[in-house]
Amino acid sequence: MTSRYDVAVIGLGAMGSAAIAFLAARGVKAIGIDAYYPAHALGSSHGDSRLIRLGYFEDPSYVPLLKRAYRNWRALEARLRADVLTITGVLQIGAPDSKIVSGTRASCETHGLAHEVLDQDETARRFPAFQLGKEDIAVLDPQGGYLRPEAAVMGYLKLAAEDGAELHFGERVTAIDTDDTGVTVRSASGQYRAKKVIVATGSWIAELVPELAAHAVPIRQVVAWYQPRDGFVTQPGRMPCFLRDEGEDGSYFGFPAIGIDGVKVGRHAHFREPIDPNQPNPAVNTTDTALLDDFIGRRVPAAAGLRSNATTCRYTMLPSEDFLLDFAPGNPNVVVASPCSGHGFKFTSVVGEILADLALDGGTELPIAAFSFAAMDRFIESRKAS
Ligand SMILES: Cc1cc2nc3c(=O)[nH]c(=O)nc-3n(C[C@H](O)[C@H](O)[C@H](O)COP(=O)(O)OP(=O)(O)OC[C@H]3O[C@@H](n4cnc5c(N)ncnc54)[C@H](O)[C@@H]3O)c2cc1C
Repeated sequence: MTSRYDVAVIGLGAMGSAAIAFLAARGVKAIGIDAYYPAHALGSSHGDSRLIRLGYFEDPSYVPLLKRAYRNWRALEARLRADVLTITGVLQIGAPDSKIVSGTRASCETHGLAHEVLDQDETARRFPAFQLGKEDIAVLDPQGGYLRPEAAVMGYLKLAAEDGAELHFGERVTAIDTDDTGVTVRSASGQYRAKKVIVATGSWIAELVPELAAHAVPIRQVVAWYQPRDGFVTQPGRMPCFLRDEGEDGSYFGFPAIGIDGVKVGRHAHFREPIDPNQPNPAVNTTDTALLDDFIGRRVPAAAGLRSNATTCRYTMLPSEDFLLDFAPGNPNVVVASPCSGHGFKFTSVVGEILADLALDGGTELPIAAFSFAAMDRFIESRKAS
C-alpha cells in the first residue's frame, strides 16, 4: 500500500531538517527520508562549527535573509532550550580594496549595520592572535559568530518529530515520479505519494534533479584544527571568528579555540577538486595540511601549535557560487534546495522556512528571485558571452 502525505522531504541534512521542521510546525502531514543517519559525516553539514555574519561581503542583497535567519536561529534555540548560535564577532581581514573587506563595508553601509574598521595597530591591540600583512586592515562585524551544525540538524529533526513528522533514516530515494496531482517517491524500501516534494540532497542533488547535472559540482573541502601556542588570546572572548582575503590565493576562514581540538581553519573551496558524491570524502593528505599549516603559521601565529585534527567535507558549487531555491523547471510539485555553494549553512534557518512556503503556498514573501533556475541560466549565458 502507498502511504500518502502533503509533503515529502528528501535529504535531512541542513536544509532538509529545517524544511521538515517548518512543515511539521504548520501542521501538515510530512515525511522526511535520508539515506544515512543524522547528523552524519558523509555530506556537508558536520565538523562542529559554521560561520555566521550579517555584513555579507558577497552582496548586500543577502542581508534581509540573514536578518530573518538570525531571528529563526534564536527561535530554534528557544524551543530547544539549547545553544546553537554563539556571537563572537567576525573579523574580516585583507587589503582595503579586497573583496572581503570592501564587500563587508559596502554591505554594512548599505544596510546601516554596526561595524568597526580597524587599522593595524588597533587590530593588534584588540586581537593579538592575528598577524596582519603590511597593507591590511580589518572590519569587525560584531553580530557575527558561529553555529553548531550537528546541534542544528538534530534540533530541527527533534522538533519535526515532536510536531508529528514521520522520519525515515537509512533509506535512499531512488526516483521521484511526477504527474499533475503530485509525486511518487520511490526507495528500496517502499513508495510514498505526496502532493509536493522538496529535494534537499546536498552534493547528490543532480541524481534526483537532472537539470543540475551539468551545474552542481561537488568539490572537496578540508579543515584542520590546531592547539594554540597562546591559549589566552585564542579564546572566544579574545579572538573572534575570522575571514581573511589573500587576494589571488583565495580566502581563508577560521574559529577561535571553541573546543578541545583548538583553533579551526580552512581555505574556502580548498583546491576546487571535483569529487564523486557516492564515494566517502577523500582523506586528508600532506598537500592539504601543508597549505593550512603554512597559513596558520603566517597569519594566526598564536594558534600555530600542534595540528590536532584535520578532516574533509564537501561543498557543492553552482556556477554563480550562489544558491538555488526554486521549483524544478516546468514542475510546480518539485521544490529544489541547492546545497548553497559552500556558504549556505548560516541560511539554513531561513531556507527551511522558504522551502515550506514554496511547498505549501506556491511562493514566498522572502526575497529569493536571485536564486531561481532562470537567474542561474542568465548567469551561465552572461559568462558565455563575456
Ligand atoms: C568544511 C565546510 C565548511 C563550511 N563552512 C560554512 C560556514 O562557515 N558558513 C556557512 O554558512 N556555510 C558553510 N558551509 C556550507 C554549508 O555547510 C552547506 O551549504 C550546507 O551544510 C549544505 O547542506 P545540505 O542540506 O544542502 O546538504 P547535506 O547536509 O549534505 O544534506 C544532504 C542530505 O541528503 C541526503 N541524501 C542524499 N541523497 C539522498 C537520497 N537519494 N535519498 C535520501 N537522502 C539522500 C544525505 O544523506 C544528506 O544527509 C561549509 C561547508 C563545509 C563542507
